[in-house]
Amino acid sequence: MDALDPPPPAGRPLVDPYARAITYLRVSVTDRCDFRCVYCMAEDMHFLPKSELLTLEEMARLCGAFIRRGVRKLRLTGGEPLVRRNVMWLVRELGGHLGRGLDELTLTTNGSQLAKYAEELRAAGVRRINVSLDTLDPDKFAAITRWGRLGQVLDGIAAAKAAGLAVKINAVALKGVNDNEFDRLIAWCGEHGHDLTLIEVMPMGEIGGEAGAGDRSAQYIPLSMVRADLRKRWTLAETDYRTGGPARYWTVKETGRRLGFITPLTHNFCELCNRVRLTCTGVLYMCLGQEDRADLRTPLRASAGDDAGDAVLDAAIRAAIARKPKGHDFIIDRRHAGAAVPRHMSVTGG
Ligand code: SAM
Repeated sequence: MDALDPPPPAGRPLVDPYARAITYLRVSVTDRCDFRCVYCMAEDMHFLPKSELLTLEEMARLCGAFIRRGVRKLRLTGGEPLVRRNVMWLVRELGGHLGRGLDELTLTTNGSQLAKYAEELRAAGVRRINVSLDTLDPDKFAAITRWGRLGQVLDGIAAAKAAGLAVKINAVALKGVNDNEFDRLIAWCGEHGHDLTLIEVMPMGEIGGEAGAGDRSAQYIPLSMVRADLRKRWTLAETDYRTGGPARYWTVKETGRRLGFITPLTHNFCELCNRVRLTCTGVLYMCLGQEDRADLRTPLRASAGDDAGDAVLDAAIRAAIARKPKGHDFIIDRRHAGAAVPRHMSVTGG
C-alpha cells in the first residue's frame, strides 16, 4: 500500500442482496426546519421531543461505524441541518474522516443560515453543498416556504460562493408554481456559476388539505416533459458526470453549467442505488420510498465502543442492509394523489 492511500475500511464492506455496495450515507441531523415548504411539510408539524434525538456524539459514532464499513460519502440533511444546535461540532468531527476512508462530506440546506456558517463549513473540509431554491420570485418564495425570505437565502448562497464552496441549486418542479421559471433559474445559475438540478415532487407525508398543497397530482410535472420543452430553447448535451447521487446531468451549452434531473417517478435509478438514510433518532431507512427501517439507536447505546459492543452494532447494520429493497414504487396520478409513504421528507432528508 502506498503511504498516501487511505486506510482500508476496518469492517467488511456493506453489500446488499442485489450486489449494490453501500457507499453513501445521508444523515438527517434534525427533523426541525425554519421553513415550512408546502410540498414538504404541513404548516402545523409536530416535531420529535428532544429526548428522542441521538446526541451529536452518538451521530458521529454511528457515522464512523459506517465509514469503517466502506461508506465514502456523507451528506448531512434534515429538517434543516444548520438549525441543529452545535451542528458545526458534528461537521468538524466528520470532516476528520476525510482522506481517511471518507471521500466527501457535504450537506443539503435551505440556505437560511449559510451566511453564518459558510466559512466554518469550508474550514471543516466541506467543498460542495446543495441549496434548495425553487424560485427567484420573492413573493412566490414566501408562499412556497411559508416562513422563508428569499433575500436571506440569496445572501447565504453568495456567502457560500465567497467562502469557496461549490453550490448546486436544487429546485422541486411544481406545476403551476415554478414551471414558468425554469429558463430564469437556468440563466441565473449560469450567471452565478452554479449547477442546477430539477427534482420531481415525491408523494411523501401528508401535507395538509389547503388548495394545491395537499394534492400531489396537482403539484406533479414529469421532468421528461420539462426537458423536452427546455430543449426548444437551450442546447443540452448529455454527460456521464455523476456525483454519487440519483441525478442524471446534461450540460447547458449556452451557460456552460450542468443541469441535472432527479426523476424518481418517470425513471427511477434504483438499480444503481448506493444509499441508506439515518434519521436523527437513529433509525436507518434502506430506501427513501419504502417504510422498512431498522433501529440502530438501541444497539448503539448497548455498545460501549468495545469489541463486543461493536459486534452488536455491526450485526444490526448488516441485518438492515440485508433487507434493502430492490427499489421504490412511487406513483402520482389521479388515483394516487396522496402520500405513498406516510413519513415526511424532513424525517429522512431527501
Ligand atoms: N432543509 C434542507 C433543504 O431545504 O434543502 C434539507 C432537507 S429538505 C427535506 C431536502 C430536499 O428535499 C429539498 O431540496 C426539498 O425541496 C426536497 N423535498 C422535500 N419534500 C419533497 C417532496 N415531497 N418531493 C421532492 N422533493 C422534496
